[in-house]
Amino acid sequence: MTNADLASHVSIQALAESGAPLSGRFPLQKMGRLAPETAGLKADSAVEYSLMAELRPGAEGGMDLWLHLQATATVSLCCQRCLGEVGIPISLDRWYRFVETEDVAMAQDDAAEEDLLVLEPKFDVLALLEDELLMALPVVPMHEHCPGQMAQLPGEGQGDSVEVERPNPFAVLARLKK
Ligand SMILES: [Zn+2]
Repeated sequence: MTNADLASHVSIQALAESGAPLSGRFPLQKMGRLAPETAGLKADSAVEYSLMAELRPGAEGGMDLWLHLQATATVSLCCQRCLGEVGIPISLDRWYRFVETEDVAMAQDDAAEEDLLVLEPKFDVLALLEDELLMALPVVPMHEHCPGQMAQLPGEGQGDSVEVERPNPFAVLARLKK
């Protein structure tokens, strides 16, 4: 079994009982939903992740399962100002609490500060990781300073260059629609 197979079938209970972190690296190109959102993804672009699970006393006397996800990746996107490639660093650090069913999650979601997930015997950590990366992508990715951009002289920037600096509305819409 590869690391990737393991991470898509994780027993959170066993992970909590082991007390050890599960960490690894997963190629972004193999993420079927994320990869099409990117531009010029390198073959070796990967997300580095680390997972820790723990049991904590719950509200009703039992033990709750919690999961801590930390991950970093640099995702290549298309700059909406110069349309060149821009590497966007993403860093995730999130806690989740597992509940029994979707109904419980819905009922408790408003009151809970943490994110709630429905516990499955073999939890797909990679799918969760991909969801989080997708949500972390900026709606309008841009270079802080676009390469090759000319320094503007005072008084310039009234004409055509104003258009250039505006994000591409179609690209923004396309992302919002999803
Ligand atoms: Zn740019």
